[in-house]
Amino acid sequence: TSPDPAFARVTPMMEQYLEIKAANPGLLLFYRMGDFYELFFEDAEIASRALGITLTKRGKHQGEDIPMCGVPVERSDDYLHRLIAAGHRVAVCEQTEDPSAARKRGNKSVVRRDVVRLVTPGTLTEDTLLDAHANNYLLALARARESSGVDRFALAWIDISTAEFMVTECVANELAATLARINPNEVIVSDTLHGDPDLGALLRELPSVTPLPRDAFDGATAERRLCDYFAVATMDGLSVMSRLEATAAAAAVTYIDRTQIGQRPPLSPPSREASGSTMAIDPATRANLELTRTLAGERRGSLLDAIDRTMTAAGSRLLAQRLAAPLTDTAAITRRLDAVAALASDSAARDDVRAILRTAPDMSRALARLSLGRGGPRDLAGLRYGIMAADQALARLAELSDPPEGIAAAMQALRQPSRELAHELGNALSDNLPLMKRDGGFVRDGYDTALDEARKLRDDSRLVVAAMQARYAEETSVKTLKIRHNNVLGYFVEVTAQHADRLMSAPLNATFIHRQTLAGQVRFTTSELGEIEARIANAGERALGLELDIFDRLAAMAIRNGDEIRNAAHAFAQLDVAASLAKLAIDENYTRPDIDASLSFAIEGGRHPVVEQALKRTGQPFIANACDLSPPPPPVEGSEESGQIWLLTGPNMAGKSTFLRQNALIALMAQVGSFVPASRARIGIIDRLFSRVGAADDLARGRSTFMVEMVETAVILNQASERALVILDEIGRGTATFDGLSIAWATIEHLHENNRCRALFATHYHELTALSAKLPRLFNATVRVKEWHGEVVFLHEVLPGAADRSYGIQVARLAGLPPSVIARAKSVLAKLEAQDRGSTVRALVDDLPLFAVPSRDAGESAPRGETAPLIEALKSLHPDEMSPREALDALYALKAKL
Ligand code: ADP
Repeated sequence: TSPDPAFARVTPMMEQYLEIKAANPGLLLFYRMGDFYELFFEDAEIASRALGITLTKRGKHQGEDIPMCGVPVERSDDYLHRLIAAGHRVAVCEQTEDPSAARKRGNKSVVRRDVVRLVTPGTLTEDTLLDAHANNYLLALARARESSGVDRFALAWIDISTAEFMVTECVANELAATLARINPNEVIVSDTLHGDPDLGALLRELPSVTPLPRDAFDGATAERRLCDYFAVATMDGLSVMSRLEATAAAAAVTYIDRTQIGQRPPLSPPSREASGSTMAIDPATRANLELTRTLAGERRGSLLDAIDRTMTAAGSRLLAQRLAAPLTDTAAITRRLDAVAALASDSAARDDVRAILRTAPDMSRALARLSLGRGGPRDLAGLRYGIMAADQALARLAELSDPPEGIAAAMQALRQPSRELAHELGNALSDNLPLMKRDGGFVRDGYDTALDEARKLRDDSRLVVAAMQARYAEETSVKTLKIRHNNVLGYFVEVTAQHADRLMSAPLNATFIHRQTLAGQVRFTTSELGEIEARIANAGERALGLELDIFDRLAAMAIRNGDEIRNAAHAFAQLDVAASLAKLAIDENYTRPDIDASLSFAIEGGRHPVVEQALKRTGQPFIANACDLSPPPPPVEGSEESGQIWLLTGPNMAGKSTFLRQNALIALMAQVGSFVPASRARIGIIDRLFSRVGAADDLARGRSTFMVEMVETAVILNQASERALVILDEIGRGTATFDGLSIAWATIEHLHENNRCRALFATHYHELTALSAKLPRLFNATVRVKEWHGEVVFLHEVLPGAADRSYGIQVARLAGLPPSVIARAKSVLAKLEAQDRGSTVRALVDDLPLFAVPSRDAGESAPRGETAPLIEALKSLHPDEMSPREALDALYALKAKL
């Protein structure tokens, strides 16, 4: 009925294409045509640019050429990987019937097609698309606006390749740290949240954000959608979640339903992470401490790279997870340390367990692929070898006389998977396995009689062909006659051109039917060959069909045992991490840290885990240093239960940054449950770690660096509590000297008086050392430097005291500044010192506004200075018993006390 002539010209296939395309907005459509996935229109332009493949044309649409490009189905994983990495999402559209079925319906019929799967960064399962050493998380973010105006967020994150499913809640100022810890590959939010300017900056930092219509985040239907996914009547028995967490969790499973289309990957029930159970580490601190990547973006040179001695991909994923989320619960940390200690002290057990782990395949990912119908014979074999490895590990661990809780629990889990399954898989699978199940040949001969028969028929027929070739050669007296096979002709007889005439004349022409003449050869068929051809094809098809049935049966058996297999896989990963950390402790001479609920921070002989290994490779020693930020013993006035601040001075290159970072890393590793690079370490739980570097060092970012530095410092001063550990390196250096000095000065005062946290502050502002005269918990330390024959020698030794300020110029000389510049600098310095900036500094020290700074935790600690009488007066008021008039009078009385 369309009057539009352009529309009338749309071919039936194009009509189908446009319809499917319209149903999948925002995705590139991979449209299956034979052995290719084709892309059209704008999709083709995007893909050809992203993949560097040729853009061609196919037909016309509304008078214009239709741009097209295609990728071969066989190699589509590689192309998908590159498109996903470039931030695209792809809808895979398959032919859902045989082309012959369409032809039967009529000339103009198009093969039926359907989108079978949406490929998005957060919902991958294929090994080729995944990084073996990293989790691949899809994360749903939901928000609740409280009447108080405070935002609460719930996060639900899922790795469908391992079935992990977690939920947690946090408040707005913890969101960035929480997201940085989980490090999701794709984040889904509601349309509303997506458009919210408050979240804009945060969402832009994330790798891939997908907005979803509101219904996915509908709190009212959340429970029902979750129950539906897990096929239960109520979620109560599976997991405890807040309403907001359930909303996020339901959004995540809804998105999985929408992308996997009819396939439901099995997921563990959502496991709730209590807020505050992990050390909060914001993105800037993670970047600065180079936990999983260096500032340059490389894994090499990161803490993870330096400490990862795992044997399996699942183990290295778990280690990365733990490193991203150090614990705050002493008991949980102790459990992990006990497991490491047991394997550190028993080197034979450790080596044996690691050797066994080496043979354990990635069972959880293999299982996930099988569950989604994307698995292959090697995934089945992986489960078999995994269960065999579990038996070996159990036998070895049973020799431990008194296994700690963590190892005992792992052993328990390793006993779970069905041994019968392993046995069956062993009987069924051949020794050499094809990658794809459709290639066939993966079932062992002798396993299934019907299959053996079909194979025999197929193979016998091949022998018959060989016999036939000999007979034909004899009958025709053409010795060089060959029977060959190709996809176009099937089986055919081939002779060289000079013998062709014989076969084409009587009587042989009754048997040999001419098919094709090539330059040197002529090809024929015979009816006999046609028959054998059909027989071979049938037998082959039947054999493959039987193999695929067997595959499905074995896969179903494995999936039924899914929970047990996943538990065992997780136990392997835990053992791997424990053994890896034990090996690290022995190789690198680490010690077990003491973790408790105090505010201690006492490190003896501390080293930087990454720099130490780097120096070792060049044969240089790392100089160990102590650090003690524990609250000073009571006699010191004002020391009541708060940690200390160390102010570290020293010239550039002395080792200040290294010292600061090593202490942060030691704390972090200790709470991860690892031994630490130190001879002794006692650490009271740290709930939040902050690390900032002065703008001049922050080369990795191109933004207005001083502004960034100040924003980040503001976050620390506003958020660090007594349990935090703060590392500040050269703060204030991104601006003019006096500006910078003043900011650094005021920052230290605030940290000391208000945050009252343990802190390390490195600076080249010598003047700041004067502060220790007034701030009882501020301690001056310096990195020792020595002059040797007029040269500066860095000793990297941290000692009490302040740096000698003239070393800066010595270092400049060492760096090769011209002698005239050095001489001039010396004379300028002398003049500046003559002016005695020191007197101003002394005046400032005397004038410290310590008790004027409002204390943020006035409610918890004892009132100090002049606020004390006010607070006393406030405490004596009983508003419920007062008339409005009395209340007003009391207010005036309070004001008068000011
Ligand atoms: P700063 O922050 O004082 O400028 P860095 O911490 O960047 O100095 O250290 C400069 C170099 O000195 C580092 O690259 C490292 O190789 C070396 N270094 C630092 N601390 C030590 C140490 N404790 N032992 C050995 N070498 C060290």
